Amino acid sequence: MTPDRPRRIPTPRCVAVVGRELAIAWDDGHESYYGFDELRRTCPCAPCRADAEAAAAEGPLRLARGPAPGEISIVRWGAVGSYAIQIVWSDGHGDGIFAFDWLRGACSCDACAPRLGSRPRETPSRLRHGPRGA
Ligand SMILES: [Zn+2]
Ligand SMILES: [Zn+2]
Repeated sequence: MTPDRPRRIPTPRCVAVVGRELAIAWDDGHESYYGFDELRRTCPCAPCRADAEAAAAEGPLRLARGPAPGEISIVRWGAVGSYAIQIVWSDGHGDGIFAFDWLRGACSCDACAPRLGSRPRETPSRLRHGPRGA
């Protein structure tokens, strides 16, 4: 145990497309799945970010540009240095570079999701109907 060593960012041991999801097996044994549509919506490249911000500013009535859900898929991906994956989409868009630590933070599996939400966990209240004989 070396508690004061800086936390190492997990790196993908294996990246694969499974159905309409990008699956990443991390070198610490964790597995993450990212839906194509969700991943594309969160594309970190500048034009996509600008578009997402414009969409948010104009409210829900504005139709988002870009591919419709279910339309887009990943055609290939490649490592960027030792810190990120670059994804090329079926519409030719390929500027998005997804950093490993971002991807890991965006993991929505049961083990990771609870810490993403800020909802406090409710403890089920057990009504007490008076003392029961011990
Ligand atoms: Zn993009
Ligand atoms: Zn997870």
